[in-house]
Amino acid sequence: MAEKSRGGVNRREALGAATGAAAIGLATPSAVLAQAAPSVQSAGAPPAPPTSSAVAARAVNEVRDPILRISRETWALAELSLAEVKSAEVHVRELEAQGFRIVSRGTAGVPTAFMAEWKQGNGGPVIGYLPEYDALPGLGNAAEPRETPGPTGKASGHGCGHNTIGAGCTGAAFALKKMMEAQRTPGTIRVYGCAAEETEGAKVYMARENLFADCDAVLAFHPAPFAGAGTVRMNATNNAKIIFRGTTAHAGNSPWEGRSALKAAEMFGMGIQMMREHILPTARIHYIYEAAGVAPNVTPDFAQIWITIRDIDRDKVNGMTDWIRQIADGAAMATQTKAEFDLFFGMYDLLPNEPLAQHLYRHIAAVPLEWTTEEQNFAKACQKAFNVPEVGMATKALPFLKDISAGGSTDIGDISYQVPAGVFAWPTLPLGIGLHTWPVTACGGMSIGDKGSLNTARILAAAGFDLMTDPTLRASVKADFVKRRGVKPFQSPLPPTRKAPLTLPSFLVKGGQDDVFSGVKSET
Ligand SMILES: [Zn+2]
Repeated sequence: MAEKSRGGVNRREALGAATGAAAIGLATPSAVLAQAAPSVQSAGAPPAPPTSSAVAARAVNEVRDPILRISRETWALAELSLAEVKSAEVHVRELEAQGFRIVSRGTAGVPTAFMAEWKQGNGGPVIGYLPEYDALPGLGNAAEPRETPGPTGKASGHGCGHNTIGAGCTGAAFALKKMMEAQRTPGTIRVYGCAAEETEGAKVYMARENLFADCDAVLAFHPAPFAGAGTVRMNATNNAKIIFRGTTAHAGNSPWEGRSALKAAEMFGMGIQMMREHILPTARIHYIYEAAGVAPNVTPDFAQIWITIRDIDRDKVNGMTDWIRQIADGAAMATQTKAEFDLFFGMYDLLPNEPLAQHLYRHIAAVPLEWTTEEQNFAKACQKAFNVPEVGMATKALPFLKDISAGGSTDIGDISYQVPAGVFAWPTLPLGIGLHTWPVTACGGMSIGDKGSLNTARILAAAGFDLMTDPTLRASVKADFVKRRGVKPFQSPLPPTRKAPLTLPSFLVKGGQDDVFSGVKSET
């Protein structure tokens, strides 16, 4: 991640799919859309704007200040995945101020996750929003169109624009509440504080606890260089750590007394290369050596590999994972070391929902992509710095993206197998620039990011209102979900023994693994 290739536009956008992924392999819908953009269908007639679009625009205007506070404060905090304590609190503070009840904090074993709710009347639909708020390491930047340190120096920054996801999704909940109050619409708005999208996504932990089960639909967006929606599939994934343990020895005096964990790790890597020829073309396997010894004259007794395994569905990913376990065991046997295999995280593929995507697309088309000269110049300066065409910000939406598959993954995948999920892309960064780069951080901290937060809040609030009030839309969304999902029951990819993310920062762990300090306990 945080890759800064100087390649051309297409390569950069393809890189967006790869580097938009978190270290453990979370990619983003926008990155996928970026990758998918060349194969879109023809545009056809522009869709008519639903009447709720203008109403939502007025509602968003009423809550403009809290939306921009979330966007700007989260941007300045730039807290990393699983450590987004203050950023979560910014959301909770504004939700409480808007009359939402905080259902839980430290939700589902993730200390920086939360769940909030507002309801009116008896029964009615339940619509969920999915704000994210984690930043990325190394991408701190000022809100200026050049590479220069920001509020955290260079240490961390919103290089994936999650401050706007937080503000847009939470802001949509505020605006939808206003719309429902005006119309006395019965229903429930749920806001899921989706911590750690870049690493061990909280959505996966929440899905395991069935926290989305009563939702009629969930809605979200992701920043991109453009606006778009469609039936986009993303990959299922598993993440594992493989540890090899051997015996140290003086590598010069008595190497025969040692057994090298590094040699086992190397053999494991060779095994993966031997496997590659015989896996499906849709599969992706990538890994790093996290530990490989400390000095060449000490036979390494410890080596650790982090591997990500992806394919188009869980069955295929699980099949490859079984094979990779055997490769680890084989490498240990051949080197007289011991192997441990910790499958610590996984995700479902993303199941698209066509009626929901089409509906979001109508709302996207209803919102003009307008930029000031200053904003276009800001974007062009970023493009100049990146040596890509100086064409500024996108000014019209892509055509509807039909039946696209892509290499990345998202933690919305698990939710999409439980309830219908609607996701779209919206521009908060210049054309030709990939996610996980400093211009994304820069744009997210000024008016381009502000517009992204406000406009996506409008789209998400309007679509949420239509879902609340239109039983025909809900029925078609549900029917498409049932048809695509099939009959196989949802089974969380997380191992039952994993109660909390593996990579929680030490200040959020009381002592001992999985002993999570959630700060404030659930109220219910
Ligand atoms: Zn992202």
